[in-house]
Amino acid sequence: MIQEGLLLVISGPSGAGKGTVCRGVLDKNKDIYISISATTRKPRPGELDGVNYHFKTTQEFKKMMAENQLLEYALVYDNYYGTPRQEVMETLKQGKDVILEIDIQGALQVKDNMPRAVLIFIVPPSLEELRKRLIQRGTDTLEEIEKRLKCVKDELKYVSRYGYIILNDQVEEAIKKVEAIITAEKCRPWYYNFDDYA
Ligand code: 5GP
Repeated sequence: MIQEGLLLVISGPSGAGKGTVCRGVLDKNKDIYISISATTRKPRPGELDGVNYHFKTTQEFKKMMAENQLLEYALVYDNYYGTPRQEVMETLKQGKDVILEIDIQGALQVKDNMPRAVLIFIVPPSLEELRKRLIQRGTDTLEEIEKRLKCVKDELKYVSRYGYIILNDQVEEAIKKVEAIITAEKCRPWYYNFDDYA
């Protein structure tokens, strides 16, 4: 009876734990699909093309933009990031739920184009905790970390456009909250069709 899948958009400052929360949700819910974004960012050690991202040159990315292949895209910290449209739309049509882990600019584009998308913003317990996590993660230089922290305050101005906010101080709790949101959102009337009740 449920027709199409749920589109879940998860954003939050870098280091807020979005990635960990998403992985936790995916581990427990094997039938949810996570979209693999295209980016012009260079791969970090251990990242694989087609697994973490589809790594593109700027020229390739701009071609995807021009050909309307992207559901949304944004320039984030000097690199382009975007969601390939076709896979997401086809998966939703098959009735499968899809997660996009994307920045605020992209999330708001998705909301404008697909009003039923469910936007979740993950926040870290504090800026100090965030700085600590980013340093521990060791994937960014100190200069990049300070740049990212400066953006956080600006990003927080947009949280009121999100449907839900999850404070991530306990990962397991944050994962449970995402699952609870999925459960509740799937009870929305537009996911149901009662034609066969005639
Ligand atoms: P990172 O370089 O650390 O993997 O990601 C940097 C930022 O880009 C994160 O906030 C991440 O959520 C965002 N991002 C990743 N993929 C996409 C995408 O497809 N579209 C948009 N708009 N942002 C993305």
